[in-house]
Amino acid sequence: MTNEELWQTVLAQIQLNISQANFATWFMETEIISQKGPKITVSVPNSFVKEWLENKYNKHIFKIIYNVDKNIKEISYIVNKKSLKSFKKEPISHIIPEEIDQLKFKEFKVNKDTNLNPRYLFDSFVVGSFNELPYAAAFATAKDPGIVYNPLFIYGGVGLGKTHLLQAIGNEIVKKFQNKKVKYIPAEKFTSEVVMGIKNHNIELFKAKYKDIDVLIIDDIQFLAGKEKTQEEFFNLFNILYEKNKQIILSSDRPPKSIMSLAERLRSRFEGGMIADISMPDIETRMAILKTKAQEKKSDFPDDVYEYIASVVQKNIRELEGALNRLIFYKKVNKKELDINIAKTVLKNLLSAPTKIITPKKIIQTVAMFYDLKEKDLIAVSRKKEIVKPRQIAMYLLREELKNSFPFIGKKLGGKDHTTAIHSYKKILNNIPKDKKLEEEIYLIKEQLVNQC
Ligand code: ADP
Ligand code: MG
Repeated sequence: MTNEELWQTVLAQIQLNISQANFATWFMETEIISQKGPKITVSVPNSFVKEWLENKYNKHIFKIIYNVDKNIKEISYIVNKKSLKSFKKEPISHIIPEEIDQLKFKEFKVNKDTNLNPRYLFDSFVVGSFNELPYAAAFATAKDPGIVYNPLFIYGGVGLGKTHLLQAIGNEIVKKFQNKKVKYIPAEKFTSEVVMGIKNHNIELFKAKYKDIDVLIIDDIQFLAGKEKTQEEFFNLFNILYEKNKQIILSSDRPPKSIMSLAERLRSRFEGGMIADISMPDIETRMAILKTKAQEKKSDFPDDVYEYIASVVQKNIRELEGALNRLIFYKKVNKKELDINIAKTVLKNLLSAPTKIITPKKIIQTVAMFYDLKEKDLIAVSRKKEIVKPRQIAMYLLREELKNSFPFIGKKLGGKDHTTAIHSYKKILNNIPKDKKLEEEIYLIKEQLVNQC
């Protein structure tokens, strides 16, 4: 295996276990630059990434590499600002064999102006009765932005294709109308821009940036629940764009009427356009999705393998894809055909995972584990800095993830007063947009929380 192939193998495995955002943050512009005997050197773009890979991912990376090559005993990371720069100048197809390109992650090619990922297209979106309506509405919207359905509001459960559909609209519009300014933004990011704008007294800049957009796409709008200032800014922006017949496209995990603490005026704006929901795909559609995805990755399996995955993964297309990626990876590494029995063995751990339910206990455990603390330290009286911050984060997450009441949160973390809980929650909430490291830590904790459940 060449260094590049080995690193692609590592990336392929890691990608299965962490979110795209984390993956892009920590693994973009990394590569193995040398392998001398038992030692591998990985180049990374900056010292921040170096620290994180060393502290948080090294074990994982090492395990994967060791599985491939038992001679490797050590991995070191060095900062190389120029990493991959020279590499990028040449046409990629000359350097990366087609086969490896399949495992190159297209998330990297997200357009910086539009935030659109070219991977999400109508062409690669499988349509069945479960998503026919949102698909048709999306397609019509892409054909005549600002005219037919405004706003277009798409909702549905996790991993059922909302982001894919929203981005497909954006990509199609960019292709068809080259002069239209399209912007995709997750509501979480939108919120932090508002918060930053207010903090730095330059909210006008924020407004100016958005008011000339022709197509504004905001993903996971349920995140605005309870964020009054952001809602207000969004409401103003909505009106400006709407009056100019600009297209607004929104997604949420639930219908507008079920988003708690959403200002009534916003709710009625959302309800003024087209609302379409994505439900659950049936088994035939799940198989069709698997086949399409396998084809995209230039792989194929016997029908009973598709049927097996489709019958055990029922509720989430992202998980369907995850299971499929595992099989593709297995096939690649072992270079042999894969039958239903092997598929069952390979997927055993993945599929036997119990359903993901987050509880207060799990949040406290995960935070403690993340910061290498004992649970009892987290709930003790200590005011040590190393403990205060994780405790505040735990309080923040109890509020954010479970909507627990402040008195409950105070009680859970060692009988603290509810005002302490409120203070902690606000402190973390306010610091996230200012503190990149904190933001990433919380991201990772959430990630671990979901993975462990
Ligand atoms: P959501 O935003 O609803 O959580 P995503 O849009 O991120 O879900 O979809 C999860 C994964 O499933 C993505 O990789 C996406 O490409 C894929 N996916 C979802 N729906 C479809 C579909 N109808 N056809 C093909 N792929 C799909
Ligand atoms: Mg999404």
